[in-house]
Amino acid sequence: MPDSDRHLIEQSGGAPASAPLTVMWFRQDLRLRDNPALCAAAEGNGALLPLYILDDENAGDWKMGSASRWWLHHSLKRLNHALDGRLWVLQGDALGELLRLCDALQVERVVWNRCYEPWRMRRDHGIVEALRERGIEHEEFNGSLLWDPHEACKADGTPYVVFTPFYRNLNRHRPPGTLASAPDLRGPKLAACDQPAERIDRLGLLPAIRWYGGLADAWQPGEAGAHERSDTFIASSAAHYHERRDFPADGAVSALSPHLHFGEISPLRVWQEVHDADAGDGGESWIRQLYWREFSHHLLYHYPRLCDDNLKPGFERFPWRDKPELLRRWQQDSTGVPLVDAGMRELWQTGTMHNRTRMVTASFLTKNLLIHWLHGARWFWDCLVDADLANNSFGWQWVAGCGADAAPYFRIFNLVLQSRKFDPSGEYLRRWVPELAGLSDRRIHAPWEAGARELRSAGVTLGETYPAPIVDLRASRERALAAGRAVR
Ligand SMILES: Cc1cc2nc3c(=O)[nH]c(=O)nc-3n(C[C@H](O)[C@H](O)[C@H](O)COP(=O)(O)OP(=O)(O)OC[C@H]3O[C@@H](n4cnc5c(N)ncnc54)[C@H](O)[C@@H]3O)c2cc1C
Repeated sequence: MPDSDRHLIEQSGGAPASAPLTVMWFRQDLRLRDNPALCAAAEGNGALLPLYILDDENAGDWKMGSASRWWLHHSLKRLNHALDGRLWVLQGDALGELLRLCDALQVERVVWNRCYEPWRMRRDHGIVEALRERGIEHEEFNGSLLWDPHEACKADGTPYVVFTPFYRNLNRHRPPGTLASAPDLRGPKLAACDQPAERIDRLGLLPAIRWYGGLADAWQPGEAGAHERSDTFIASSAAHYHERRDFPADGAVSALSPHLHFGEISPLRVWQEVHDADAGDGGESWIRQLYWREFSHHLLYHYPRLCDDNLKPGFERFPWRDKPELLRRWQQDSTGVPLVDAGMRELWQTGTMHNRTRMVTASFLTKNLLIHWLHGARWFWDCLVDADLANNSFGWQWVAGCGADAAPYFRIFNLVLQSRKFDPSGEYLRRWVPELAGLSDRRIHAPWEAGARELRSAGVTLGETYPAPIVDLRASRERALAAGRAVR
């Protein structure tokens, strides 16, 4: 906590107006509606102090990346606005910051929604102990998942490692929990906040260099933006989701992942709305995707090493290669494979990437280049606005073949076929790799297959206007198959 802020807390000298004081600690639930912790915190006659703590100290290797920080800045601004400018904001080790605040303002109760990343669970465990020792009441809820990970186990109490039975079993029931409107926080309910008006800016979440123009054009962080996205998806795309979800040019997906990650909309609300929309196979298929999110969180909760280590035994023998120059070419969208470069450009410019291209770019890195999935996961972590430790780690391990229920090692994408199948007219490629736009719908997926005259008339010179492929796709596929056999 900056000294100036500490001084302000000390100055305010105890709970404002009406004690007892309850702290509502916002974390990955930056919303007022359907927020079980907020509803509980708002009960009773006492005052409520809404709080956010930016805790980079405990996050270790998984400190929020640049795109997520951009998102958080705007989401906090919107939350603060919705809270009448009363959101307290602290920065540093959450345990120390929270206890100092509790001592300074004689807080009686602290309430939050659970988070499931291993570092946050470890930290929260210590915080619960410390609050208990001080006689401060504490309550916690599930506001981020349809099912708490410990509730979603098999009949014998062990966790699932295969998606289909996990999904079948849970999808037979209505998820627990109830939807709730925003509690009435007007009047004396919200504690006064005498921190400086620029406290959110002072967190330094925005980068010094303004590279985020594309993110601002693509997204509206915050609860209102989340509901708008959800309404638009249900009205225009949900019914066709099952048919169109794999085509990256289409925009048929919900784009709700960053809103779900930051908790600007609850999974229960989107589940309920899609369920009630009666969107047929499209609705069912979308809800199934939401259950992939549940599954990855279930795995991270029960196997906390998911984010750092291969889940599948034997993979420690996999012959990953150390190729910094090839990694750089992948990161900087100059692999010479159009669908890979298109995905990486979409990521860099908008902070997201379609699921199909996430799989394709990840497969290219881990299979065709044989570069360790953690390098890819870290790059995604920095660039994605929806960077999510459970979904990202799970997605990378799944593609690399070392995760739970992962693609078998011999299932290696043929990248040109993927491109032709899921972007048949080259619309996505022309959007993101315009230097190839003059090629025919067939050649644009594999410019190296075009003849000299074809390339010339399209204004393409491989190695000059667009890179030649950095690896032979067929030979590298064979090499990856051999590597996979070695750890089978
Ligand atoms: C290598 C790789 C990395 C990924 N990293 C992330 C990440 O950091 N954060 C993230 O939210 N998703 C990640 N995903 C999963 C998926 O690509 C995104 O959730 C999806 O593209 C988000 O777009 P959407 O909101 O339009 O999804 P929709 O298609 O509309 O799906 C609805 C929701 O379901 C969930 N979902 C969909 N697909 C998956 C999936 N495969 N696994 C888990 N949840 C899913 C998401 O919350 C999504 O918002 C990754 C996938 C791969 C292959």
